[in-house]
Amino acid sequence: MRKTIFCAAVLLLATTAIFTGCKKDQQTVNNQNFSYNVDKFYDLEVLRYRVEGFEQLTLQQKQLIYHLSEAALQGRDILYDQNCRYNLRIRRALEAVYLSDSYKQQYNAEDKESQAYLMEKYLKRVWFSNGIHHHYSEDKFLPEFTREWFEQALTEAQYNLEKEVLDVMFDPALMQKRMAQADGVDLIASSAGNYYGEGITQAEAEAWYAAHKDTSAEPKWIGLNSQLVKVNGEIQERVYHVGGLYSAALEQVVESLKKALAFAETEEQKLVIEKLIAYNQTGDLDTFNQYCIAWVRDLNSRVDFVNGFTETYADPLGITGTWEAMVNFKNTESTHRTELISQNAQWFEDHSTTDPKYKKEEVKGVSAKVITAAILGGDCYPATPIGINLPNANWIRKEYGSKSVSIDNLSHAYDEAAKGNGFAEEFIIDEETRQRAEQYGTMCNDLHTDLHECAGHGSGKLMPGVTKENLKEHGSCIEEARADLFGLYYLADPKLVELGLLPNKDAYKAGYYQQMMNGLMTQLVRIEPGKDIEEAHMRDRQLIANWVYQHAANKEVEIAERDGKHYLQINDYEGLRRLFGELLREIQRVTSEGDYAAAKELVETYAVKVNPELHAEILARYNKLNLAPYKGFVNPVYTLVKDEDGNVTDVSIDYTEGYIEQHLRYSRDYSFLPDVN
Ligand code: ZN
Repeated sequence: MRKTIFCAAVLLLATTAIFTGCKKDQQTVNNQNFSYNVDKFYDLEVLRYRVEGFEQLTLQQKQLIYHLSEAALQGRDILYDQNCRYNLRIRRALEAVYLSDSYKQQYNAEDKESQAYLMEKYLKRVWFSNGIHHHYSEDKFLPEFTREWFEQALTEAQYNLEKEVLDVMFDPALMQKRMAQADGVDLIASSAGNYYGEGITQAEAEAWYAAHKDTSAEPKWIGLNSQLVKVNGEIQERVYHVGGLYSAALEQVVESLKKALAFAETEEQKLVIEKLIAYNQTGDLDTFNQYCIAWVRDLNSRVDFVNGFTETYADPLGITGTWEAMVNFKNTESTHRTELISQNAQWFEDHSTTDPKYKKEEVKGVSAKVITAAILGGDCYPATPIGINLPNANWIRKEYGSKSVSIDNLSHAYDEAAKGNGFAEEFIIDEETRQRAEQYGTMCNDLHTDLHECAGHGSGKLMPGVTKENLKEHGSCIEEARADLFGLYYLADPKLVELGLLPNKDAYKAGYYQQMMNGLMTQLVRIEPGKDIEEAHMRDRQLIANWVYQHAANKEVEIAERDGKHYLQINDYEGLRRLFGELLREIQRVTSEGDYAAAKELVETYAVKVNPELHAEILARYNKLNLAPYKGFVNPVYTLVKDEDGNVTDVSIDYTEGYIEQHLRYSRDYSFLPDVN
């Protein structure tokens, strides 16, 4: 249920990462020079995203976004310190060297093996990971420059860094993992994360949480906003709030929230901001619950935001929230698309290929909100989720609901940035199919996701006595396949053209090719040689593609060989649709009847195993393209525009800031915490 990448987003991310069109002119968008690609180093690529529609917002909304954006950036140091207590000292030392005259004299962008160049690369990596551990694998990465060189560079920059910190940077044995996951070790002692003070054991922390657990009907999330430390043998809680831990940063956040308050769009939103200010000031968890409830109830404001200690994945015990921030506003055009699908949910249900006895008499479509991100901060930056689903407290979700959004402009930036990277040329069979992918690929992707989310999951009914649990460990794969097939079946329906969701009757073919290619071949780039497919969405996609491939009695789909390479070839798109419909009918039956044996058979036959030769070939072709598997972003820059009397007349947005410039500016203007907290 947690935030980050909910199911649609996983689908989208996987397809966007693996599928691309082949447009060459991505530099020019809306008559403004705009490059999605910013920088690339190690396994990371930095992109830029567009905030489409910002200019059309009201001055009030723009100012609200401006102040909320400030609040989003002001907590940056908190995340560094949460990730590891040495991070701030290391980042500051690196930046001091980087900005020193002696370093600048040494630096030569052409000499990629020089110590100075390697330090820049390391610093870029530290910024990307908000610390010295890889943002995804959580392993510590080591500098490629020598300790001797760095110590000399520090001396020349007249910057003092303790030996203890240098040891952490250079000794591979120290602080190896940001978060340990292995069984049988003390998770706190073996994690570099700073959610617990030195000397506290896992057993002690668990005992403390157990003793302080709130068992009331509306429980407080004890430990969400604190670090546990041991003082004179006793466990104490250091709470994150103004006057407590991370005070200097939270004071700034509160000041910006106060400024934002003046521009709140609705009474509901005003309450959200007021509660968040109070929570930051006191650290009181009842106030946090009130804030969450107010946030869920604020449905009419165009602008929305997250700011604070939110997701608990990074705490090895899963209790304490990591600081994150994002400001966004509703994308009315894309939300209209999901509303249209939702309004027609009954029509889709009535016309699907499933047996009438498994159809719902009354379907309630889900209207997902599509948003445009305006700024990313904390744990949403530079690497970011493309969907949000909050709050995390189950009792609030149950009683007051939750908000689920997909972030369109970030997904589109992934798509656009991937164009021209060689992927389509390598894996799509011919020019005609490539051109169709370029023209309609993103559109089909969005639409398939919307159909999956807004109609697919909500369709169909279970027979009396059957629950979702009947399918046990195969339940989520089958459920995702059901929603995917529902979307695929309707992607080709003339109804979508009629509703204005697709421009013509052939556009869907781009979506069909992409789904089949991904499910049968290209998603395998995420699997290590010799491994099975484990993740539910990946299984679902292979299940569909492989089943259809195996059942293509009239060669509707085949794998063709050209010059020793294998390609997906679709000979009959309408026949392919019939096959999707057939499988949808069966999977709905399996779901409605709770037929575990059939679910197991489907998953084990089609979804899990990988053809080792094809896998090896795909990996070899993919690796040659030299693509960075992890992406992150730079933010746009917002500036208040004032008249000569000092009145704000507009908020401008600028996209020209580079990756290094941005981080140096953030470290200069938004760094409030001391080295040691
Ligand atoms: Zn789903």
